[in-house]
Amino acid sequence: MAAELRRDLVRDNWVVIATDRALKPNDFPINKGWESTRKTGQNFCPFCEGNESYTTDEITAFRDNNTLPNTPGWSVRTIPNKFSAFKLEGELELKYSGVYESCNGLGQHEVVVETPQHGVELHQLPAEQIKQVYLMLQQRYRYLAGDPRVKYIQIYKNRGLFAGASLEHSHSQILALPSVPRENKGLSKYYQQHGKCLLCTTLEAERESRQRLIYESKHFQLICPYASRFSYETWIIPRRHTEHFADINDEELNDLAAIIKIFILAMLDCLNDPSYNIVINTAPVNQGFAGGYHWYMEIIPRLIVANGVEFATGFYMNPVAPEIAATMLREKILEYLK
Ligand SMILES: [Zn+2]
Ligand SMILES: [Zn+2]
Repeated sequence: MAAELRRDLVRDNWVVIATDRALKPNDFPINKGWESTRKTGQNFCPFCEGNESYTTDEITAFRDNNTLPNTPGWSVRTIPNKFSAFKLEGELELKYSGVYESCNGLGQHEVVVETPQHGVELHQLPAEQIKQVYLMLQQRYRYLAGDPRVKYIQIYKNRGLFAGASLEHSHSQILALPSVPRENKGLSKYYQQHGKCLLCTTLEAERESRQRLIYESKHFQLICPYASRFSYETWIIPRRHTEHFADINDEELNDLAAIIKIFILAMLDCLNDPSYNIVINTAPVNQGFAGGYHWYMEIIPRLIVANGVEFATGFYMNPVAPEIAATMLREKILEYLK
């Protein structure tokens, strides 16, 4: 599939356009009724063990020693995103046509299938398997960061229709981009102005006030951020100042896997099983020194569909104060820890 990135001159941002693909109305997940396929479980699933030949060729997998790529016997499997608009080929080419500006879709888009089993979700996996998922994401992060054309690596997960998932089988995605998105620019701005890390400062403040602190483990703090855009928005922040997600060590990975399991269990229970997104915010790569970055994970339950004013202004309207959200999530986690 061919794609190009077109510059949105009005908003000073980029949009990815699939130039040769025409989806019919019923090809869109909302019209297809994701929830109904989930309930009946009738649809064929290419991510299931045994269906390896129906996916794009495996990039890598954690698998039993005596098994071959693209066959059963794996625990976590990475494949190129079949519908990806990105290709890590050639160089970045900017094109100008009158007032318009575009560039080729230089990059890579991968899918990490988190389990061979259908219908078992991330939080239902044993913590050891969750760790394997994040170990795979870390490996792929390191590999993609080794390509000088890659400037940013976005790891994310869509769970459920309202989070943008088109397949039910539990998976995460990695998108290696040729430029740095506008998100998180505030981290380097704060560092330039104050000479210290914004997230390290935030960790300290939230630990002291405890108002928005959900849970604290040996290596991570879970908070509802002060300016939460979404109700029950939760950040998982490593307590050790580390710029890149790939800097996470083995002990931290064990801790992260345990926390993700318990947090998602508690969150789904607390909020009546919503769709959610997980995104990992991390420092740019191949950009020289990027001061002030401190990687962190956001978990966003999708309880409300973004409305007109949010598209128009970028100001989110959040009907639940993060102080209240944190209290509810904290109490639920404590129930699970009993
Ligand atoms: Zn499946
Ligand atoms: Zn920091």
